This record gives sequence, structure tokens and C-alpha cells, in this order.
Amino acid sequence: MTAPERPTETNIPRIGVLALQGDYDAHVQALRDVGAEPVLVRSPEELAGIDGLIIPGGESTTFLKFLERNGFLESLRDFVQSKPTFGTCAGCILLAAEVTHPPQQSLGVLHATVERNAYGRQIDSSIRTGDTQLPGGPLEMVYIRAPRIVKTGDGVTVLAERDGFPVLVEQGHIMAATFHPELSADRRVHQRFVSLVRSKIAGL
Ligand code: GLN
Repeated sequence: MTAPERPTETNIPRIGVLALQGDYDAHVQALRDVGAEPVLVRSPEELAGIDGLIIPGGESTTFLKFLERNGFLESLRDFVQSKPTFGTCAGCILLAAEVTHPPQQSLGVLHATVERNAYGRQIDSSIRTGDTQLPGGPLEMVYIRAPRIVKTGDGVTVLAERDGFPVLVEQGHIMAATFHPELSADRRVHQRFVSLVRSKIAGL
């Protein structure tokens, strides 16, 4: 008997977490907490068969170094064109159309300009509570050498801001946060992404 395929009746989205570097473990836990099945992704082949992807925080330059091997960057570029993808912090930098301070290449799918390390050095990392459009009131936001979304373009909805700059955004099948929602106990941001993935599975 061959191993069963993914059961078609399952309502559990399989969501990849790019696990080349950075704090992917915390996303794995957050996905489990909101009823998704996390799948670690370490090679371009592993992008097949997942319903969505989280690109975690870490160091975007280090991600790029790993991704430049074995065609991973090109495969990921294709993936993010159509599949739900959520980038947090370094992941947000990788998704952006334009990266500054300094400029670097990216996946280019999020209509935004993102400035790296915009809030100063490591010592300026902080935990804040801010307003959000997500239902349920203010949200804790953990910033670690965070980037700043300095400009957004067509189709980008801002779900939270810090000092007048977007920190949580959505654009069709793409979500991005400049903070680390996986490091807070509040699971609303991951819930939002899993709902987005479910809506795409349903063809909405
Ligand atoms: N400073 C990092 C970068 O520029 C991002 C930091 C993070 O992901 N926490 O890639």
C-alpha cells in the first residue's frame, strides 16, 4: 500500500516556514496554535505542495546568500507571485519591491519601499503596543532591528502603523509585518494569514 496522499477532506492548510536561518521555530509553534500544519522549507523542491509560506525574521542579507544557491531565489520569486506569503521583518524586506539602506535585491512582490534597520541598532529593539485594524483591540509588537515601510503602492492595505508608518500590511495574497508577531502570545496576525491561505485554497 502506498502512503496516503493528503486527505482531500482535510481543512488544515499546510504552511511552509522558510527554515534557512532566523527564528522559524516560533512561527512553527504559532501556526500550530492557529490550526495550520507547519512544514519546514529548506530547498526549492519543498515549495511544492504547500498552501502558503512564512518568510521569518533573521538577516535578509544572509537569507539572500542561501537563496542564491541552487535556483532557490528564482523558485521563490515564482512562488510569491501567486501563493499566499507572509514576511516578517527580514521576510518583509525580502518581499518588498524596493529595499534601501543599503539597497539590495528582493523578491519584488510587495508594492512598497522598505528601509532596513530604520530604528537604529540592536539596542533600540523594543516591545510596543499599538492600534491595529485587526479585530480585538491593540496589539503587542516586538521590534528587533526592524525595517520601516517608507512607501506603499497600489493595492496595499495598512493594518497597523507606528509613528505614521505602516508596520503590518496586506496586498492580495501577500502579508508583511516589520515586527515579530510570532514572539507574542497574541495569535491574531497568524490567524489572519491562515484565513488568507484558507480563502485562496477555497478559490476566493
Ligand atoms: N535587520 C534585519 C535585516 O536587515 C532584519 C531584522 C529582523 O528580521 N529581526 O535583514
